Amino acid sequence: MNLNCDVLVLGAGMVGVSAALALQARGRDVVLVDRRGVAEETSHGNAGIIQREAVVPYSFPRDWKVVIDYALNRRTEAHLHHWDLMGLAPWLWEHFQNSAPDRVEAAARAARPLVERCIDEHEALMRPAGIADVIRHTGYLRVYRSAERLAADSAASASAAARWGVVTESIDLARLREIEPHLHGPLVGGLLKPQAVSVSDPGAVGKAYAALFQQRGGRFVTADARAIEPAGGCWRLSGARPAIEARDVVVALGPWSNEVLRPLGIELPLIGKRGYHKHYAAQHGAALSRPVFDVEVGYVLAPMARGIRLTTGAEFARLDAAPTPVQVEKSEPRAREIFPLGDALDQEAWLGRRPCLPDMLPAIGPVPGKPGLWLDFGHHHLGFTLGPVSARLLAQLMSGEAPFTDPAPYRPERFA
Ligand SMILES: Cc1cc2nc3c(=O)[nH]c(=O)nc-3n(C[C@H](O)[C@H](O)[C@H](O)COP(=O)(O)OP(=O)(O)OC[C@H]3O[C@@H](n4cnc5c(N)ncnc54)[C@H](O)[C@@H]3O)c2cc1C
Repeated sequence: MNLNCDVLVLGAGMVGVSAALALQARGRDVVLVDRRGVAEETSHGNAGIIQREAVVPYSFPRDWKVVIDYALNRRTEAHLHHWDLMGLAPWLWEHFQNSAPDRVEAAARAARPLVERCIDEHEALMRPAGIADVIRHTGYLRVYRSAERLAADSAASASAAARWGVVTESIDLARLREIEPHLHGPLVGGLLKPQAVSVSDPGAVGKAYAALFQQRGGRFVTADARAIEPAGGCWRLSGARPAIEARDVVVALGPWSNEVLRPLGIELPLIGKRGYHKHYAAQHGAALSRPVFDVEVGYVLAPMARGIRLTTGAEFARLDAAPTPVQVEKSEPRAREIFPLGDALDQEAWLGRRPCLPDMLPAIGPVPGKPGLWLDFGHHHLGFTLGPVSARLLAQLMSGEAPFTDPAPYRPERFA
């Protein structure tokens, strides 16, 4: 006997769980599927920032000196597996082209309607999930080691404020000591992004949302999503026991989404931009009140329930390549220069994969020619931020409601 439902959501990261809740809120009978538990991959190990300030996306450097440094693994913020370069080159080239100033501007214009609503959409789920108090309204702090770089970024922030409504407060050394008294060492000041908020356990937020989905009658099934196939006007997941049939299916498998799409004849230019984290104790009761980005080195220190989480920048490698946490090794001594980190609390660094499309926008919407097949993935550095707001847009499109923003920039067929 089959299990029948309206919608199968494949992938229970922040994006899939949010989609399941938004569809359920519109009266759909939803089954959420993952091969692991809820929010145990990328949505577990991120820096926990709901980046209301991140309208302008993370693009690829255009300065050739920096590009060469990246290629030679001379910087901490990026790491490249040279033996995977052939496979990554087409994506990197497209991403490089999309990182031209006019295209970044276009991406920011397209991202703004999503980013602007990110906190409201999270709060609308946190309240009924009983975790409204987990949000820290303390912003996100960028700290600087050189006055030149601080001045340059300060000027860029002023222009972003005018164009994108992103607020930045310049923080001199005295104010820095006041708001983060345990930061020390070679810092000259910072830029505070007060609109951003953060949490101390992003995986727990995903799990709380999934618990709300289940309390409201939603079902979670552990199964491999790769067995999805069209079956007589609906979709059938034969790998589940019992098999599940649904009218609609949403692919929200983050960096693994192509593994399900390829057998259906669809492939988007998706990579998993890898990143690591490791937790540390803090010495002598030292603490941070907000995530801190050491801009010129390229890592974040985020205060988490488990300890201080050091998260790294981007590693360009095959999705399933063996972990090479060299960025953690390079960042740790630099982090000790600015904060009294104690012992490492994890034996191994955690590895996550940011699902990235080359134009820095997610794919949200229907797949032309495949009735009932919907996509919601590719949220790059912002999947924790954008899961709930993307879910609203997806659910509106699936329900025939007027979408709150023009969905054209996110349409899956834009790469065809
Ligand atoms: C170091 C780091 C720091 C970050 N910091 C932030 C931050 O501060 N703020 C922010 O907004 N974003 C941040 N991000 C990005 C963010 O974590 C991701 O964009 C987001 O988690 C992606 O969510 P997702 O649901 O699309 O993917 P995932 O969370 O990866 O979920 C995909 C799910 O699909 C499941 N799956 C895969 N294959 C199958 C299969 N065959 N069958 C069944 N299930 C399958 C997986 O088990 C997984 O649960 C960070 C990322 C990293 C790596």
